[in-house]
Formats: sequence, structure tokens, C-alpha cells
Amino acid sequence: MKKDIEIARAIEKEKIVTIAKKMNLTPDDLELYGNYKAKITLEKHTESIEQGKMVLVTAINPTPAGEGKSTVSIGLADAMNASGYQTVVALREPSLGPTLGIKGGATGGGQAQIVPMEDINLHFTGDIHAISTANNALSALIDNHIYQGNELQIDPRRITWKRVVDLNDRALRHVVVGLGGPIQGVPREDGFDITVASEIMAILCLAKDLKDLKERISQIVIGYTYDKEPISVKDLKVEGVITALLKDAIKPNLVQTLEHTPAIVHGGPFANIAHGCNSIIATKIALQHADYVITEAGFGADLGAEKFLDIKVPQLEKAPDAIVIVATIRSLKMHGGVSLADLAKGENIPAIRDGFSNLAKHIDSLKAYHVPVIVSLNEFTTDTKSELEAVKEMCDKQAIPCVETSIWANGSKGGLELAKTVVDAIQTNTNDYTPLIPEGTSMQEKIALIAKNTYGATTIEYSAKALTQIKQYQELGWGELPICMAKTQYSLSDNPKLLGRPTDFAIHIREFVPKIGAGFIVALTGNVMTMPGLTKEPAALEIDIDENGNISGLF
Ligand code: ADP
Repeated sequence: MKKDIEIARAIEKEKIVTIAKKMNLTPDDLELYGNYKAKITLEKHTESIEQGKMVLVTAINPTPAGEGKSTVSIGLADAMNASGYQTVVALREPSLGPTLGIKGGATGGGQAQIVPMEDINLHFTGDIHAISTANNALSALIDNHIYQGNELQIDPRRITWKRVVDLNDRALRHVVVGLGGPIQGVPREDGFDITVASEIMAILCLAKDLKDLKERISQIVIGYTYDKEPISVKDLKVEGVITALLKDAIKPNLVQTLEHTPAIVHGGPFANIAHGCNSIIATKIALQHADYVITEAGFGADLGAEKFLDIKVPQLEKAPDAIVIVATIRSLKMHGGVSLADLAKGENIPAIRDGFSNLAKHIDSLKAYHVPVIVSLNEFTTDTKSELEAVKEMCDKQAIPCVETSIWANGSKGGLELAKTVVDAIQTNTNDYTPLIPEGTSMQEKIALIAKNTYGATTIEYSAKALTQIKQYQELGWGELPICMAKTQYSLSDNPKLLGRPTDFAIHIREFVPKIGAGFIVALTGNVMTMPGLTKEPAALEIDIDENGNISGLF
């Protein structure tokens, strides 16, 4: 069987100007990065043009390999175009953390990929580097301010702004900077997050335009004074330079699928430790230039979709017209108690029936938003007919369309029925989108709504630190900001080992991190970490390059 990278390399790509034409963009709307990648200039980003329909692709709680959201999003967009519906796919940019880690890249798989995949997975147009640099420039400016006399009286023990690097690097979680004597700086504890969990990434993805980007950056709170007053970027007067470092990163990137569908790939926050959606600017440009836009949000529906609906939608000012939940036989078996090593071993309908409880919970949670929900059953060659039938039968009982998709094996041909089901659902949708979280709810009310409705928790337990922070944030006027939950992607609970549909469990709120520029408060639950580590045999060990510059080992 051909590897993803071999399939990707074998196709003849169209020039990016030809791809752009399919969404009515002219060469003047593009800044070319070679023949097959371009940035879309921001002049194309206007407020008032009519928008297309939006389909959100999400998933069941995944196995560590992922369940195929990117693959299905790409293949669905190809299938929509093949069926005569003008469609653009809008995805996130891959992070080097998973690309070199356990999960691999984020450019789809099999016959449903975006290309050039090795470029997109490794450095792409440099956006994530620009974000890391902007973030770390702020760290350098904070440390320099303290070194140069600390006029603002920043308490080095209360700096919440961390440095970032776009790698899984556990050794950098806790560091001490400024060692080496008086001329090296003022020693203090610091730490690194992965870039895709950074506030700059979140801001880039939520900003409406360059002006809004700068305004949000000025509002970032970097820590507190000795008198415990918050210090913002505007106090340091450095919002100009930080924004300038993002002047190109803010422009969405255009590439293509294997079947030459336009793909806008921009912004890449993780959904377990950040808000998990591609940029508002990219989504808007896509909506203004296509009749249908397929977009995805990270990990399972409890993380990415919840944040898409509760954080992104109010700012995008548009709700999805349909939601596709990707499920696989392997993930259903895992939720039914089968070990990861045994997922591809033989038919196991009882495990699938047990594991369906996880999918059923996501279906219930998403139905509450009053958007049509469709299950895409992403077929693997190891699935048996009876296994697939069992899932369809259980979806029938929930009155949810369940479509088998063989997009990975067959490209658009494997997604034609899904495309038809999605369009039918959109055309009959009555558009009575209902948000989960009403305006004016407190931090604790918001957390309760998410934990109880989306996760199915019975109680919420707060650490003493979290309770103190809630009081402090209310006094600072941050009490009504949206909450961005940071939680394991593997379980509906905050314990990665509780699979299926856990009942009778508590969500543990360990600590909050204010992201005032992004406009939300991150709630850290369980043991979730904002800097992942590598596994014993990371994907990095497979990646290679030959003397002609051909990359191998990416998937
Ligand atoms: P997600 O976006 O949900 O994380 P991806 O689309 O990135 O998932 O897919 C995860 C991995 O699984 C990729 O390596 C992809 O090639 C592979 N994959 C997806 N669907 C299939 C399938 N039907 N058969 C085999 N491999 C698949």
C-alpha cells in the first residue's frame, strides 16, 4: 500500500493561481510562495459580502492516531465539488509537536490530502515561527524591562507570560532564566508552552483584522506588579512590534487538495489546551468565496466542537449549517474496552455496541445546538460489513444519519453519499441555532454548563487556587469572559483512562490562566499540560531526507 507522502507526490498539482480562480481570487489577491502555495492578501477580507454555508467536522473522542477529521474534511470538500457544489476546505496548520510526535502531520491521509504535504507539515509559510518569535520577543522585552530598572514594578514571581517553542519538549516545561550574575539579567522561574497553546496563536485565530490583532495584543496580561495589579502589553508599549512580527502570519495560506479543491490552511491552536479552530479571517474569506465551506475543530466534539460553537461562533457571527461527527470502528472498539494493540484484530461487535455510548453522548450534546448532525463512519480496510452495519443501526435508533465514507481509500468517490446527505440536511435546516452558554453567565456557571451538558459530569471540584482566582478575576472585571477548557482529548472526563461514556464523575478545575487578549480564560482540568512530551518511539525517528531533497517518513 502506498504511503501518504507517495500518493501526495504522485499527483500533478495545479498552479496556485488556477486554484485561486476557483474561488474567484485573482493573482492580485495572492502573494505567491512558489508555484503551489500562496498567502491571500487581507484586502479580500471584507465584512459585508454574502456568505456560503458552513459545515463543521468534529469527532468522537479519538484514539492517539486521530479518527480522520482532516481526511474526511478534505474528502468531503472534494466530493462536494465533484457533485457540483462550489466548496472550499478551511483547516488548521500542522504543529511540529504532533508531526514529530505520535500523531503525525495534519494534511489528511490516503486519497484525501492537501499538498504539498511535506511543506505544509514542515514549516509551511513560516506562520508558526512568526508566532513563536512574536511570543518570545514579548518575553525578552519583559525580562529586559526588569533588568533595566523595572519601572512598572513587575513582580518576577508573578509573570504569567511563558516562552514557547513549537515542539514537544518536556525538558522545557519549567526553567530558570537570567542565571549567571548581574549582567545576565534577573533570575526568575519561567517555562515553555508549545506554540499552538500560546495566546498569540489564539489571538491570531480570533482577530478580525490587523487593527483588531494589535488591539488584542495590547490587552494581553503578562503578569502582576508587586501590588498584584495586572500588567498588560500596552503598559510595556510593545504592541506595535509584536503585531509587526505577525504582518504576514495574519494572512491565510492557500493550497490545494489532491483533487484540486482550494484549501485555506491558517492558524493551528490545539483543542485540548487551546481553542482548537482555524482563523476567523480564513473562515470568513472562505465563506465569502464559496457556496460551501468545510472546516474542522480539533480532537473530539467535547473539545474542538464545543469551543468552535461557544468561543468561535459568537466572534465569527455565524453558526455552522451542519455538523459532521467522524467516528471509526477502531475508536468505537477502544471505547468498548479493546486495548490499542488489539484494535485492528478481528470483528468485535459487542465492543462496538458498548463503545457507541461515547458517540451517542457527542450526538446528544451537539443536537442541543439545533444544527443538523450527521455521522461519517470513516471506513478502514480492517472493518467488517457487520461492524459497519451495527453502527448504522445504532445511529438509526438515535434518528441520526450515518454515512459510510471510504474517502481515505477512494477520495471524492468515497464521499459522494456524505456530500449529498450534508447538502440535504443544510437545505432542510430551519436555522434555529441555540448556543449552550447564554450571555451574562459567571465563570462557574459556564464551567458547569460545559462540564455537565457536554462532558456529562455530575460535579465540578475547584482547587483552592482556582477559587481564589475566580474571586480575583471577578474583581478585575474578567468574570464574564468565555471559558476555554483545557482537558484530555481521550475521555469525556478529565481522566484519560475513563473511556466510553463515563457517568458519576467530577471535573477537577486545577487552575485558570487569563488570556485577556484572546478574550477568554483557560481552565486547566485534571493533569492536562500545555507543553506535551515525546513518546519512546516518536514519528521523528522515521522522518528522513535523501540527497535530492525528497522527504520520507511523514504521514
Ligand atoms: P484527525 O484530523 O481526526 O486527527 P486525520 O485525518 O489526521 O485525523 O487522520 C489521522 C491518521 O489516520 C492519518 O495518518 C490518516 O492518514 C489516517 N487515516 C484516516 N482515515 C483513515 C482510513 N479510513 N484508513 C486508514 N487510515 C486512515
